Amino acid sequence: MDIPSSARLSVRPETEKDLTKLAEDWLHRADAVDVLPTPLEQICEVAKVTEYEMPQAVNDGLLKRFSSGAIDILQNALNKVRGMADVRERAIYIPLGDSDPRQRFVRGHEIAHNLIPWQKIRHGHLDMALSLTADARFEFDREANFMSGELNFQGPRFVHRTRSYAANLEAIDVLACRHETSFQATLWRYAEVQDEKILVAMYYPSWRGELNLWKCVPSPAFEKRFPDINLPTLVDPLHPWYSARELGQDTDGEIDLDCGSDGCCIFRWQARWNQHALLVVVRRMPKLHMVGRILRAA
Ligand SMILES: [Zn+2]
Repeated sequence: MDIPSSARLSVRPETEKDLTKLAEDWLHRADAVDVLPTPLEQICEVAKVTEYEMPQAVNDGLLKRFSSGAIDILQNALNKVRGMADVRERAIYIPLGDSDPRQRFVRGHEIAHNLIPWQKIRHGHLDMALSLTADARFEFDREANFMSGELNFQGPRFVHRTRSYAANLEAIDVLACRHETSFQATLWRYAEVQDEKILVAMYYPSWRGELNLWKCVPSPAFEKRFPDINLPTLVDPLHPWYSARELGQDTDGEIDLDCGSDGCCIFRWQARWNQHALLVVVRRMPKLHMVGRILRAA
């Protein structure tokens, strides 16, 4: 695909197959197969992992023991922690206050640190915002992110569920709601397993206000059919996708995109501005729709 390789979202670690099997095994043991949203507390129970609420402020006991400067440092560090796993004690610590889907993802991540056998060589994991993203630097975090997805989306069953919906933003809303997962996480996974030719892309604003391509995920069928697509790396106010940000509502339309040796191809697109980023779904139009378009133009 003719877009920067750093923009290709790659959340699947080398151990992907082992992690899928492991997640499946724990879902069975916890009697959680096909129960949505996944009852993570049941997995904790059978895996004998205890969940604790992570303190979000330095408490009185600590206040007495540290100078005010040290307390500021501690508080600052505490604010950055998104989750913690103590593998030796089989404990996880989750801060309250995050939105439910976000918290669910972090819980899955910390549970995974406890359940992945080869990660036991480390006693603990302290997770900041970066460890929970697609850009996580450590392999153990990438594995925990992937396994959190497997637990929450229920591995192969998500594929069947996804394919029974049309490929659009509304379907992703419904799926995110059923799994209690974030829209963004659902969107990525949706594209990864879709059998239709779709691609999702995410753009973040620069200091100048235009939107830069951050990550994209083509479905396998899209990748195969349009390996050389030129996706805009920058979306400015003149670009039709920008309208979702301007209007503050989902927008859609049709667009010609350069597909390398295939020339220009027409795609349907839908865009959503989530207050932080622009999410775009690009979909190859069904053949019948294209015939209709040609007939109308004639
Ligand atoms: Zn981690």
